[in-house]
This record gives sequence, structure tokens and C-alpha cells, in this order.
Amino acid sequence: MKKLLIACLTCIVTGTFAQKKEVDSIAIKLAAYKTVRLTTDISKMSMEEREGLKHLIKAAEMVDQIFWMQAYGGNLAADTVSKKSVREFMRINYGPWDRLDNNRPFIEGVGAKPLGANFYPSDMRKGEFDSLTDESKNSPYTIIVREEGVLKVKKYPDAYQHMIREASMELNHAAKFFRDSMFSLYLTKRAEALLSNNYDESDRIWLDMKDNRFDIIIGPIESYEDRLYGIKTSYEAYVLVKDIEWSKRLDKYVAYLGELQEGLPVDARYKKEQAGMSSQLAAYDIVYYAGDCNSGSKTIAVNLPNDPVLQVQKGTRRSQLKNTIKAKFDHILIPIANELVVPEQRKHITFNAFFSDIMFHEVAHGLGIKETINGKGTVQSALGPHYSALEEGKADILGLYMITQLYEKKVLTEGELMDYYVSFMAGIFRSVRFGVGSAHGQANIIRFNYFKEAGAFSRDAKTGQYKLDMAKMRQAMTSLSSLILKLQGDGDIEGVQKLINEKGSIGPELRKDLDRLTSKNIPVDIVFEQGIEVLDLNRPPIPEEMQK
Ligand SMILES: [Zn+2]
Repeated sequence: MKKLLIACLTCIVTGTFAQKKEVDSIAIKLAAYKTVRLTTDISKMSMEEREGLKHLIKAAEMVDQIFWMQAYGGNLAADTVSKKSVREFMRINYGPWDRLDNNRPFIEGVGAKPLGANFYPSDMRKGEFDSLTDESKNSPYTIIVREEGVLKVKKYPDAYQHMIREASMELNHAAKFFRDSMFSLYLTKRAEALLSNNYDESDRIWLDMKDNRFDIIIGPIESYEDRLYGIKTSYEAYVLVKDIEWSKRLDKYVAYLGELQEGLPVDARYKKEQAGMSSQLAAYDIVYYAGDCNSGSKTIAVNLPNDPVLQVQKGTRRSQLKNTIKAKFDHILIPIANELVVPEQRKHITFNAFFSDIMFHEVAHGLGIKETINGKGTVQSALGPHYSALEEGKADILGLYMITQLYEKKVLTEGELMDYYVSFMAGIFRSVRFGVGSAHGQANIIRFNYFKEAGAFSRDAKTGQYKLDMAKMRQAMTSLSSLILKLQGDGDIEGVQKLINEKGSIGPELRKDLDRLTSKNIPVDIVFEQGIEVLDLNRPPIPEEMQK
């Protein structure tokens, strides 16, 4: 069966003239991604650390394969498609659907992407799922399969047995090479978690670990890929090397989280929770992306764990991926600003402001409200498939709100307040290009429309460039923050639907502006050259006495 599918795909891709045109357009789509090498300074790493890092990368490679299966199914392995560009584009998208174009199929004969990706049988009817009695069907760590016509629930470690065992083994190997005993303990506990499908203990150890120079985030984590019920989690991995100096810079903001929660622009009922108070901020060079975070638009900051109970008990860690943020700033944000922002405001686009906008987005995930105030359960369960887009929207807007507060308290001292606002606006243009197919893209489209209608920025009809109005943007920021926090606290799914219907799509004017960016070959996102070779990990380190 597998072979047959592969043969069909090969002839679809190579054959006729119609397909030729398709392949050309894939070359254009590929050009939307700028290739960036993921490196870090390895000169001070010992031989042991380099060896450990190699095992971490190997573990990450395994979960990359799992995500391929979750997103698509694995039957049509990309390396069997003959055209290099098609193969490459499938690799970026983890399947034949263009993630930056609302998951439109880019290979003829491939139907629409199933809402439930490959977490559920593609022919499963809703009623069928509802009548399934196995309670573990609602677990974030199971898939639903059809066996002899009957729906069955399978735990992740059973569904992806071989790859999970390999990944777990690599983590155990890696643990032997690091001198940091806490980090080694985390690695072995995480290795266990992958096998047991129970992540709680390793998440707790991960949060307790503060002085580690290396890190790996690995496992089934985000639920964006499941657009059917929004519950199944996707495998991913980030292999990280801490940037000690920048991490210290971030430390000082953590002390203000309590104050910031109390200051949220919403009725007291919606800000009673103490979420995220023991939060940590740290900056890293990322050296390897795998799975979900490597698909379509690349993650630049991570706020984990997602478990709301753990968040309340122990807070979260926000990991800022500094080298990737810098790459996006240089290759995407600056060129976008040069095209879409009025010349006199372009001086306000700074790396510091862009980095801060992203950092406070992560801080803001820990604030606000996790549990509805009217007995509808958690915000996540009440809002279902709309949860992700709204939560991302919340994080963006509250991030800017916090920057404003901290700047006025003189805690945040770099640059001018205007820098953060103009960079934020340019950031919206960057993110709306991800399209409604991604939670972040959807959130940014809503915010763009909301701000535009509120007069936060205006567009010069002649030049097609945007100018920011500080006072109106501040007002819009406050009212949108309040609106989103209320929708979440009330678990108001109709209200969210209304917001998406009214403001969730790209209008003709914005479409034209975005097309201008494409026609000027401004990349939408980046892809990576990464791995053991790219990092040159096999190179012997300089002996310690020669480093001095
Ligand atoms: Zn986010």
C-alpha cells in the first residue's frame, strides 16, 4: 500500500505541462523562505559537552520524524518525490499543504488538509468521535485510529514506538556527558517521560533548573496542529545554548510580574489569578529546531509548560531564541519597514524594541486568566479551537501594554517608547503574512483590522505606507486588551467567533500591500541549515590552557 502511494505521487509531480506550472510556482513559494545557518560559539565547549550536544540533536531528529507522521501520515515520504523543489517545500511544510497559504494543497490531487491532521482518521465523523466511550480520547497524548472499521484510542508511545524509544535513548546518552547534575537529571527524567507519556515530573524539574548552560525542550507540546478539537499535541524539540549575558538583562523584569498582573486594564474579576509569578526569562542561541516549531513559520520564543495547573503552581519559563530573532529582524523586519512604514518613522525600528516586543509577548502568556469566571472550566476548554488564536492575540497586545507600563516606571530604559510601538506595527505586517492558517497569523490580522479601524495607524493612499498615531494606538491597545481578557474570562465562544468574522480576514488594501512585499522578494520566513555538521561539533576543542 505504501509503495503504491509513493508511485502515484511521483507521477503527479513529474508528468504533464499542468504540473510543470505547479512546480514553477513552488519555486516562487520556496523563495519566500530565507535560508539561515544556525550556529553558536562552540569554542568554549568541552569535548564532553560537544558529545552531549550531538546526542541532543539526534533525539531532536527523532521527534522531527514523529511530527511528520502527526501532520501528514508518513506514507508519502518527501524524499520519494522526484522534484527537488517540491521535496524541499514538503519538508518545510511537513506535508503537501502550504502552511503560509491557509494550508492550500500545492500538489495536484492532494485534497484539503484534514482539520484533525493525522491525529484522527480522516474519514472520522463527529458523531463517531462523540460516541467513542474511551475517556482517554480527550487526552492531549493519544491519537485516534481506525482498526477493522472501529475507532480506537492509542497512546503516543504506542503509536510512535520506535522513534520514541530512540529519542529516549539519545537523551539518556546525552545525560552522561554534562557535568551539570540538574540538567542530567532532567534529561533522564525526560527520557522516561517520553516512554511513559507522563510529562509532569520532568516539567517540574525543568522549571527548577536555573543555572543550566544547555537546554532541550522536547516532547508533545503545542496543540495548534489539531484544528478539529484543539486537544492533540504535536512533537517538537528545541536544542538550546544559553546566552548568559542577555539572560541577566532579562532577569530584572520578572520582579514586576505581580504588579503588571494587577495593573491589567480590565475589571478586577478578570485578574484575580496569580499566574506566572515565579516566571523566568532567558535568552538562548538555538542550534536545532525539530517538528512542530520547525514547520511553516518558525518559533522565536517559547513560553512553557502549557499545563495550567503547573503554570499556577510553579510559573513558566520564557525562552527567547535570540539568534533567530536577529535573523528575522535583519532579513525580514527591516526590509518590510522600508516598504510599508513612512520614512520619518523608520528610525524607530530597532532590534532592542523588536526583541522586547517578542519577549513581553512571552511574559504576557503568563498573565491574565486561565480559568473562566462563570464555571465554564479553563479558558482553553471553553474556547476550544479558537483558543490558540485568541491567546496569541492576548499575548501580543498585553506585551505592548506591559512595555508601556515598565517604560513609564523607568524600569525599561532603552530607546524611546515610540521605538517599541513602531517596531510592533512593523511586526504586525511581518506576522499577518503567516495567514489565517496559523494562530499567530490569525491573531495579527484581527489586531491589524482593529487598530486600523481605531485610527492607530493610517495609510497614505499614494505611497501605500503606514504612519502610527501614538495616542490612538495607546487607546486601541487598552480597549483590545480589555476585550480579549473578557472574552477569555467569560469563555465567550460566540463573542470570539464574532470577532473572527468581523476582523479575521485580510482586506483588499492590505492584500495589495502584502503582495508588494512578495514582489520585492522580501522573505516571509526563514528555514535553517542546522545540525552536527553545521555546528562543526566534531572539531576538537582548543585545550583549556591555550584559551587563556
Ligand atoms: Zn505566543
